[in-house]
Amino acid sequence: MRRRADHVTDISIDDLYHKGIKGILLDLDNTIVAWSEQNVSPATRQWIQQGKQKGISFCLLSNSYTSRARRIANELDIHVIAPAFKPLPFGYQRAMRLLATTNSNTLMVGDQLFTDMLGAHLLKIDTICVMPLSTREFCLTRISRCLERLVSK
Ligand SMILES: [Mg+2]
Repeated sequence: MRRRADHVTDISIDDLYHKGIKGILLDLDNTIVAWSEQNVSPATRQWIQQGKQKGISFCLLSNSYTSRARRIANELDIHVIAPAFKPLPFGYQRAMRLLATTNSNTLMVGDQLFTDMLGAHLLKIDTICVMPLSTREFCLTRISRCLERLVSK
């Protein structure tokens, strides 16, 4: 399986389904929403919906202390554990109990190596690391600024 993706929506639900993935643990900040944002994009909502249709269950696994994680999970109609204290194993284990999955049919999707990925690796859960959303925006902003400068010369 691919270990990296630009964005969650680049991860093929069909591939996961054929690999026997039954549960996805999803990081929140910079994985499905930019750090400052409140709303999940229509494309990401559709991706989650597509997963549910294939029988895959989702759990938000966020280290955030705010009620935002719970609100977003409610909206998406998926499970949530927040704060999850990643990379400690307890949150992942609780999430797998909620989803009735094991480390062999669960996938962790997140943007941070030392929280999301590390905790999953400790429990031998498959991982896919995505590009942080806000960095991506920052890069795109920089590229467009460069282009603007070139054009204005
Ligand atoms: Mg994150």
